[in-house]
Formats: sequence, structure tokens, C-alpha cells
Amino acid sequence: MEHIQHLLPWSAMGTERQLSVFRFGQGPRKAYIQASLHADELPGMRVAVALKARLRELEQQGRLNGVIELVPVANPIGLAQMFQGTHQGRFEFSSGKNFNRDFPQLADAVAPRIDGQLTQDADANVALIRAAMGEAIAALPAAQSETEGLRRLLLQHACDADLVLDLHCDFEGVMLLYAIPQHWAQIRPLAARLEAGAVLLADDSGGKAFDESCSLPWVQLAERFPQVPVPLACVASTLELRGMTDTDREPSIACAEQILAYLADQGLIAGDWPPVPGECCDATPFAATQYAYAPHAGVVSFLQAVGARVRVGDPLFEVLDPLTDRHSVVHATTDGLLYARERLRFAQPGLWLAKVAGTQVLRQGRLLTD
Ligand SMILES: [Zn+2]
Repeated sequence: MEHIQHLLPWSAMGTERQLSVFRFGQGPRKAYIQASLHADELPGMRVAVALKARLRELEQQGRLNGVIELVPVANPIGLAQMFQGTHQGRFEFSSGKNFNRDFPQLADAVAPRIDGQLTQDADANVALIRAAMGEAIAALPAAQSETEGLRRLLLQHACDADLVLDLHCDFEGVMLLYAIPQHWAQIRPLAARLEAGAVLLADDSGGKAFDESCSLPWVQLAERFPQVPVPLACVASTLELRGMTDTDREPSIACAEQILAYLADQGLIAGDWPPVPGECCDATPFAATQYAYAPHAGVVSFLQAVGARVRVGDPLFEVLDPLTDRHSVVHATTDGLLYARERLRFAQPGLWLAKVAGTQVLRQGRLLTD
């Protein structure tokens, strides 16, 4: 195991922060796994603890056939953001920006570097594009903030991987994966192993999140150079590892084992692993998710459990204003799975309270909220 440490730029004088990357194994293929980019989403960090212990063991046994880079603390900036006893790891305090948005978009920067050099050799094209991605990141002007520097370091480590897993969680939620539709066949065994409740697919969710900043440049370069083979060489997925409090020991260790088994499916780890379960949820469009909002302020009572199957018209939650006695019930507008609930029980304008994964497209434009 190699421990790579990067210094983040732009700390206040007298302080500094580091990003730690743990690198295991060697070989032609590479997986990159990071946890807790939203720093208060700790299930991923707990799973990363289990992954780190097991990868060390597997490396000592000589069972790693590829490179696996693990970043168990992807956001040391957000991890330090405690506000009066509450952890706030989603938005950077100084800018208000979501830590998982606005990653560098590599296709435009890479295209001129590879123009005229691509051939009919798909593997050579992949190698050329990966090298150009690294050069493009290195050639960016100096980072304007600590967070911008962090985003570049994360992308720099991930962009040359065959597989990228970004471990997040919801407030309260089921096991869920996001990916681009082109990668569903490759992601399906992972969803089956994780016993995911839902898989949400989108061509481009908007917001320049980390996973799509790894996968989409390949789609865009393939469109830009149609005369040569450009494979979609980076399979990237955001994993929502249930809810914020789901850091229990046994499920976390089980989750790490399921991820390792998938890495073995991908040829990165040798040995015997449990077979991929036959059962798997269907993938559905991210645009087919209902984000349910309250019509007014009040205290919230949920009327459905996380993981409930609902039909159009089923009550999702009620909102009660004790001053005016106003009482509203918010219903499902689609048949589907209630896959996430807000943690707060206080309804506020503009903040969703429940999310339902359906099959009929309900939303368009930018799909990700902040
Ligand atoms: Zn997150």
C-alpha cells in the first residue's frame, strides 16, 4: 500500500490540509473509490475503513490484479465544518457552493490535444485520451480556492480509472446508484450485489458532479471524433449508501465485501467470490423521480416508510401549522419507490421532503438539486 499525500492550496496562514490517497496493487486496470465528498455523509467513510483493511490483506496475499486507489476522506475541508455542534459537509462555508458540483469538464480541454492523433486502435486511443486528461488538468491555471484545488486532485486521480465509485448517502434512503444509461449493463452486477433498491440513469444530470465529470468526457469525445473508436472507458457511479445514520459495523463490512466482489468481477481481484445474484432492481430514468415539496411551513409527519412502494395519489407526508391549523397532505404523483426522505421534520420552502423513483419522465433540465 502506498500512501500518497497532497497538500491542498490556499489554507489560512498557519494551517494546512492534506488529501490522502491509498494506492493498492498493480496491473493494467484501475479502480478509484472515494468516500464522503459530502463530508457529513459518513456511511461511505465507514465502508472505506473496511475496504482499506481488506485491500491491505488482499494485496499481501498477492490477489490484486490491478490498481485500486481509495480516498476514504475525499473532503477534509467539509469534514472540519462544524457549526454549533452540527456537521455541515455538503456546502463549503466560505462560498456556499456544493462540494459535489462544478468539477472541471475535460472534453473541451482534451479535444485539441488529441486531434489528429487518434487511430483505429481503440486501446491506444484510450491511453492517449487518459494522458491528455492528466495534461489538461495540470495545465489549468492555478486553483482559485482550496475547494477548487481539491476538486482537481480528486479528478486527477479518478480520470484515468476504468471504474470510479463515489460513495455518498441520502438523509434517509435506500441503497441507490446513479450512472449514465450507456453504463447500465456494466453497473448492473454492482447494483445486484449491493441489493440496490433503485438505479437512476441520466445522460447528464447537470451540475457537473464528480461521477459524470469522469464518465461524460468519453461520451463527448466519442461524439466529437466519430471516425475513430473512442470507448466509454470510464464507468463511473455515485452510490447512495442508504441514510446518514447507516454506519453500523456489519452492514458496512458487508457493503465493502460486495464492492470488492464487483471489483473481482471486473478483473481487479483474483480468487473465489460469491456469484452475482440473479435478482436486480430495474434501472429507471433520473428524470422520472418525483421530488415532493411541502406547500407551506409546518411540522412534518411522514406517512410512508423509506423503501415503500407507492401509487399515484398515495399520501407521502403531512404538514401541520400549529398556529393557523393549516393541514396539508402531499401525495405521490407517480407510481414508484419512495427512495429518500429528508432528515428534518420541519417543512421549508424549496427543500424537498421525499423522493419517489417512478418510470414516467416528470422532470427535465437540471435534474440534480443542490
Ligand atoms: Zn452526497
